[in-house]
Amino acid sequence: MTEVPLEATVPYAVCVYCSASTADSGALALAARVGTEIARRGWQLVSGGGHVSMMGAVATAARAGGANTIGVIPKHLVHKEVADVDADELVVTDTMRQRKQVMEDRADAFLTLPGGIGTLEEFFETWTGGYLGQHTKPVVVLDPNGFYDGLFRWIDELYERKFVSRFAMERITVATDLSAAFAALKPEPGQISMA
Ligand code: AMP
Repeated sequence: MTEVPLEATVPYAVCVYCSASTADSGALALAARVGTEIARRGWQLVSGGGHVSMMGAVATAARAGGANTIGVIPKHLVHKEVADVDADELVVTDTMRQRKQVMEDRADAFLTLPGGIGTLEEFFETWTGGYLGQHTKPVVVLDPNGFYDGLFRWIDELYERKFVSRFAMERITVATDLSAAFAALKPEPGQISMA
């Protein structure tokens, strides 16, 4: 019997962190473009499992394009964030910590879009996990409109003042366009992803 390699059967999975509250039309459109692009590449989506705001937009667009979508939501947010019952797989966890662990485990790469403090918490956890060697998955921020300019100006200053290491800075990619973000999410073998 010929064995089919696992990577040939399981689509590449991108975990998207983004707002679960904004109604900003540009941000919602960006989330939808990301979902569409995930589907176009034959990848799958791992998301926070909510059906609202950007989180809903990315999942809806990914599904519309034919992508498999995996939503991961803690039980206390099932109503607040309107659980994405259309997800191909909806994982309901007991706690927020379990949610983050499942999202991290199920993902091959992480993409952060504009968001609030929940998004920032998730982004910093995957970034610090990456630079501390807890995982080797790409960590990418897609920021076409300077949403995070203030944050990264401050982090650059922390780097200049040696509070943040060069290695940590190199562990993420901040992209301003979709194609650069997606290239960084799945680098070619041997290609080092640099900010
Ligand atoms: P926000 O960026 O604040 O709109 O939140 C985006 C997502 O992050 C929502 O699904 C929140 O449930 C989630 N979130 C909020 N707080 C946390 C946290 N401490 N850890 C992980 N996710 C969180």
